[in-house]
Amino acid sequence: MTAELICVGTELLMGQILNTNAQFISRELAPRGIDLYHQLVVGDNPKRLKEATLTALNRADILIFSGGLGPTPDDLTKETVCEAMGLPLVLFEGEWERIVRYFESKNRCPSINNKKQAMFPEGAKILDNPNGTAPGCILEKDGKAAILMPGPPREMQPMFLNHVLPYLEKRSGHILYSREVRIFGMGEADVAERLKELFDNENPTVAPYVKTGEVTLRITARCQTEQAGLLMVAPVIAEIRGLLGDLVYSVNGETLPQVCHNALIARKSSLAVAESCTGGLLASAFIDLPQSSKYFIEGAVTYSNDAKIRRLGVKHSTLKRFGAVSAECAAEMAEGMRKTSNSELALATTGIAGPDGGSDDKPVGLVYIALASPSGTIVKELNLFGDRDRIRLVAVLNALDILRRYMV
Ligand code: ATP
Repeated sequence: MTAELICVGTELLMGQILNTNAQFISRELAPRGIDLYHQLVVGDNPKRLKEATLTALNRADILIFSGGLGPTPDDLTKETVCEAMGLPLVLFEGEWERIVRYFESKNRCPSINNKKQAMFPEGAKILDNPNGTAPGCILEKDGKAAILMPGPPREMQPMFLNHVLPYLEKRSGHILYSREVRIFGMGEADVAERLKELFDNENPTVAPYVKTGEVTLRITARCQTEQAGLLMVAPVIAEIRGLLGDLVYSVNGETLPQVCHNALIARKSSLAVAESCTGGLLASAFIDLPQSSKYFIEGAVTYSNDAKIRRLGVKHSTLKRFGAVSAECAAEMAEGMRKTSNSELALATTGIAGPDGGSDDKPVGLVYIALASPSGTIVKELNLFGDRDRIRLVAVLNALDILRRYMV
């Protein structure tokens, strides 16, 4: 199925606004196997818009328009496209009543110009526009379809996602079925190298998305039904798991905090956290999720040496000999928290988030994470890069990763 996109608006031609509608629509069409061979921008000029429409009708199955549906006299997209397609306009009473109600709800009266927004050819499918006055529409003739949407992105995007995509999927006979595979502990380049053959797949496609500290792969199948999509995607997910092992922490879109949260609830476990450099972010990762009270006992931000000693029982001698940013201190923080909170598990973080405070021995980005559990204490040393925000966030992700590896 081929499509052609025509964005209408003199401001677009003059460079006064960026054609973000074209980018948005094209990006949604490509993975659905709808070939977009031409995109065009036309000013608010009926003669040139009619020429463009006739040309597009000759070479594409679906014509998609954005802009020029408003009430002002220079908004002529619908009138011009209908003329090019030989479809006369008639008043749709129901639409006119809707527009009147919309204005009444804003204590205003519609102008006579608004009436043209309720005029459509017989048989037109009207596309609701809850975010503005101009409804969109789909016009069909001789096996071709013209889809008309308003220009403002906040009106066009929901209309496209809620009405146009389902229409296109139905017409093209396929849907898109996607699953997310989330990976922690390997950078994007290494993931791409390990999975390079999969990245060349055409259906299902495998596409990476990088978020701070982790990589998400989106596996997308073009298929007839959801069930068929599931069957196409499952072997790809199994292959990724085979290639990346336990670096894969979820295959259904769950985030690292969600994975830990679910595992803590399933195990009927309990958790407390003692934080230094992460300053409450780790506790928040759990408490952000409803039902964390089922396992979360306590969180303490023990930033100063004194707090580490007083609240967690970290030894003076440990701080003196190894410093607050050390494996020994992290272990004592986690063990002290576990003991004093009576929780089954305790996590601790201590590190240098920067930008100051680093030295040759202990540079910015050096972080220790400890997990104290009934089977002993694990400590992990991290050498992170980036600014303060990134270092703190990636420290939290690592703490979560240590916990999920312990539990699952
Ligand atoms: P309205 O009822 O708001 O007049 P309309 O369908 O007539 O809707 P236009 O008048 O063509 O839309 O454009 C209205 C505004 O929408 C523009 O001023 C611009 O801010 C935005 N807009 C229009 N087309 C695009 C586009 N292709 N990309 C991004 N923004 C756009």
